[in-house]
Amino acid sequence: MKSLYVKFTLTTISIMLASGVMAFLISNTYYQQVLKNENDEKNTKIAQEIATYAGNTKDLELHTYFEHIASVGYHVYVTNESLEGAYYGDPFRKEELSQDTVQNVLNGNIYHGMAEFPQETFVTGFFANELTNTIGVPFKYKDRQYALFIRPNIKLLFNEMHYLFAWLLGITIFLSIVFVLAGAKFLIQPITRLTKATQALSTGNFDIVLDIDRKDEIGKLSISFNRMAEKLGQLDEMKNDFISSVSHDIQSPLSNINGYASLLEKETLSKQQRAQYLAVIRDETKRLSDMTEQLLLSTSLQHPEDIMHIQTVYLSVQLKEVIRMHQWASQEKGIMIHYSLPETTVVGDASLLYTVWENLLTNALKYNKQNGTIYVAIEDGVDAVSVIFQDEGIGLEQEEAAHIFERFYRADTVRSRGVEGTGLGLAIAHTIVKLHDGKIEVKTAKGKGSTFEVVLPKKKA
Ligand code: ADP
Repeated sequence: MKSLYVKFTLTTISIMLASGVMAFLISNTYYQQVLKNENDEKNTKIAQEIATYAGNTKDLELHTYFEHIASVGYHVYVTNESLEGAYYGDPFRKEELSQDTVQNVLNGNIYHGMAEFPQETFVTGFFANELTNTIGVPFKYKDRQYALFIRPNIKLLFNEMHYLFAWLLGITIFLSIVFVLAGAKFLIQPITRLTKATQALSTGNFDIVLDIDRKDEIGKLSISFNRMAEKLGQLDEMKNDFISSVSHDIQSPLSNINGYASLLEKETLSKQQRAQYLAVIRDETKRLSDMTEQLLLSTSLQHPEDIMHIQTVYLSVQLKEVIRMHQWASQEKGIMIHYSLPETTVVGDASLLYTVWENLLTNALKYNKQNGTIYVAIEDGVDAVSVIFQDEGIGLEQEEAAHIFERFYRADTVRSRGVEGTGLGLAIAHTIVKLHDGKIEVKTAKGKGSTFEVVLPKKKA
């Protein structure tokens, strides 16, 4: 398999070569279509000037005159009526010229060999040093008819230009190849590093950080990659924490159930003890069932269309019901729940919204202080309804608050104190509120308490 670097370099060089050939063909066509005629016209004028001078100047030494013309940069061929010809200057590469052509010029016509020079794909006629590629003009000298054939001596006139262009072309090609090789390395190296980093990531190494400092798409890609690696790392950490906390949360009720079930086997137990043990088993079973329910709900919310039933939800009724259900828990902790719940309705899924309120209230109780207070309120606006849960509990650092709606996230303080939980409740609440086109926000201060506000838009059922 060819590497991307080799492929890129070969493709670019092939493109350069193909462009060079195409550019040559196009400029050759341009020469054939436009420049050839202009060149012919220009040289016809020069030839006529030369011939007129020869014809009009008395006592001109023709031989010396044409040698002089050749020396300033022309290939010259002169012939008389008897077809006795002479060449001046550097020789033509091909000296064939039909007798008819010569005769035609001797008869007084002009020969446009440059304009008529046959078109060839890879040869620019401009450079073809052939007798047929000349301008032929007649002139009379001492009552004798002559034909003069002339073309510029390209080698003499443009020799330096040739070298200049050859150097220019050579250096351009050389530098282009060097720059293509270097440029390809510059472009492809980060992709190679990105590939290696992705491979490392796939083996579970989330600590990888790419330091590609570029402003282009590859730079953006590496920033996204770093973010992705960081997120995956966090998720992995959370997953491990979740597994250990869930295993612990499952393990502890299970061992309680097991322990109390064994105790129940004793026949000497009093009626009161038996009832007490059964109550523990019931509580622990409920705990397990709640946890499983949360996990199931979190999974099923990934396909909400299967579970959502939209209807009118009586918010105040629902919230009062949630508060009533948790009255015993609040009394146990000496927590006072105040509320202001005017009759309000929203359109949504009653059961899912109930889950949101239940979660916010359980959290307000769970993370509250002994003898603290909780305030639950509905604020009925024009376009939206706000539901507020305010507690005087442990609160959160801003850094922690930024993560609480992520799945499996639990603040360190909560975890270290051994408070039960899965880190799923707020993530579920967040998803449900989003499914209702609403938003959930928290304002919190460490040690002072937290206020959660759910804003739901008013819609028609
Ligand atoms: P759980 O309560 O099961 O741990 P949640 O998703 O409900 O999971 O909450 C995530 C985390 O957010 C909690 O572990 C806790 O650290 C923090 N949190 C939630 N509600 C409050 C609150 N009212 N006061 C302080 N911290 C809270």
